[in-house]
Amino acid sequence: MSTYGRLFAYLRPYRTRLILSMICSVGFSIFSGLSIYLTIPLLETLFGQGKPAAIGLPAPTSRLPEWFVEIKAELAEFFQRLLIGGSVEESLLKICFMVIAAFLLKNIFGYLQSILITYIEQAIARDVRNHVYRHIHQLPLAYFTNERTGNLISRIMNDVNLLNSGFTATFDTLIRQPLLLFVYLGICLSISWKLTLISFVVFPAVLLIITVIGFRVRKESGWIQERIADLTSVLHETISNVKVVKAFGMEGFENRKFERENLNYFRTLLRVNRIRGLSSPSTEFLSALAGAAIIWYGGLQVLEAQTMKASEFLGFLFAMFQLMPPIKELSSVNNRIQEASAAGSRVFAILDTQPNIRNAPNPRQLDEFAHSIEFRNVYFSYVQDDPVLQGIDLTIRKGEIIAIVGPSGGGKSTLVDLVPRFYDPTQGEILIDGIAVRTIDLKSLRDKIGIVTQETILFNDSVRNNIAYGLDDCPIEKVMEAAKAANAHTFIMEMPGGYESIIGERGVKLSGGERQRISLARAILKNPPILILDEATSALDTHSEILVQEAIVRLMEGRTSIVIAHRLSTVQHASTIVVLSHGRIAETGTHAELLRNANGVYKHLHDLQFRI
Ligand code: ADP
Repeated sequence: MSTYGRLFAYLRPYRTRLILSMICSVGFSIFSGLSIYLTIPLLETLFGQGKPAAIGLPAPTSRLPEWFVEIKAELAEFFQRLLIGGSVEESLLKICFMVIAAFLLKNIFGYLQSILITYIEQAIARDVRNHVYRHIHQLPLAYFTNERTGNLISRIMNDVNLLNSGFTATFDTLIRQPLLLFVYLGICLSISWKLTLISFVVFPAVLLIITVIGFRVRKESGWIQERIADLTSVLHETISNVKVVKAFGMEGFENRKFERENLNYFRTLLRVNRIRGLSSPSTEFLSALAGAAIIWYGGLQVLEAQTMKASEFLGFLFAMFQLMPPIKELSSVNNRIQEASAAGSRVFAILDTQPNIRNAPNPRQLDEFAHSIEFRNVYFSYVQDDPVLQGIDLTIRKGEIIAIVGPSGGGKSTLVDLVPRFYDPTQGEILIDGIAVRTIDLKSLRDKIGIVTQETILFNDSVRNNIAYGLDDCPIEKVMEAAKAANAHTFIMEMPGGYESIIGERGVKLSGGERQRISLARAILKNPPILILDEATSALDTHSEILVQEAIVRLMEGRTSIVIAHRLSTVQHASTIVVLSHGRIAETGTHAELLRNANGVYKHLHDLQFRI
């Protein structure tokens, strides 16, 4: 379906408003026309040698269609009846009131229409954003390693706005302006069809220019959006890694990078604006040409041939001038639609990315974890033909602590990521209680699993909400209980707002150990039967280390834990240690058993780490 077609689907809930806005457009156009048309009797009364206004005098209308002439005659009669039969003052007063009424109604309709269309426009932007955001959460992790965050943010914010402007272009400009055009043109034709024809001689030329410029703008505006995305990406990367930038003294480098991207954006913007800017002046100049031709011919009609009254000629000029804005608006409408459809394709590209990790057709609920997690001949690769895990066979029984150790890059994180289905194995199967995880309802699967990663993700929210993340209406007592078990209660109470203190973005107001303990409290509160723990490698001070360690031991109590272990204490507590090297299980056993194998990977790693 075309981008526009898809956008129309979002319009559905706002049909009534759209129809109302169209009605308002019609009202606006009629009264706009009337407010111009009324200038004729006004001028007539002013310059008509003291006689009250008489309008609709036989202009050369013989070549116009029958219905047009009829409408014109009716209108003329209506005004005649309304205005004749009084003094000049009375007529003048009547006309003034009519002018006021026409302008008032025109503006009321105009205002209502703009409110309605803005509502629809913003509501659609809101809906598209929500839709894309919801969709993003369904996309697999792999998508986010391929797409830059800034790029995604830019698409959701900027492109959706552009979509919007294209939308207004369609429903506001394309409805209101042609109506105005129709009404003003009607007035012009009714006064003098010849004069109208002359003014339209230049229009084909205008149209041609508009089309050419529109085509260029379409091509170029895609570039603007890409530049914005680049800029947002740089911003996002450096702001979120500000510490690294500072630590490495890379401010200068990052500044230059940003300035380069910013300059690119600036240049692209200017280039597109140069092209887009051409559209208005060239239309206007051509319009001025038409204007000169009209004044020349019309002036002759009034002064020499006397086939037209001066008041009519002025009325004609007014109407003709009013024709310009709609033509100008219409001349840019194509550009806007082109921009919007380019933006639309970028937005819809996100929506078109299929979430490949999703619920099986009839997913099974995992009500409780009963006995085991089993890896059955599991292979995995991020990129084709480059296996990260190969032939993993592993059974983890309920209540066990499995420590996974091995050299960096050996596939430890990947192995644990397969259990909550962040990725699906390329071959083989993972089973929980004998049920393949692929067939289990994702939510019920992930509900059973608690994950504490090295990168302790905290949200810019209160301590309480960070601990109770994902749990609605969790009583504060429970939050406190979890915090106590995670050795976090004391330091939380020392914070100015206690549990209601807001943690800065990414928890910058907390120390590493404190952040870890909040993460641990979160996992304790969630109380999942299965725990995946990626121990932090960074060394904490001894006191902090002891507190974190205690919290981890409490967290693991009574659960089945898979731990990517870096600490000797965790490794020693483990029921089984799995040594993962180059994507294969090199050894398994207890600490004591593995140490006995003098040539084993584990012994080697252990010696390296503890320099024994
Ligand atoms: P470990 O946790 O043992 O350090 P990982 O599971 O993180 O190992 O990584 C195993 C291998 O997979 C590494 O070679 C790493 O470069 C690669 N890898 C990890 N994540 C991705 C990814 N998202 N895309 C491509 N390759 C990846």
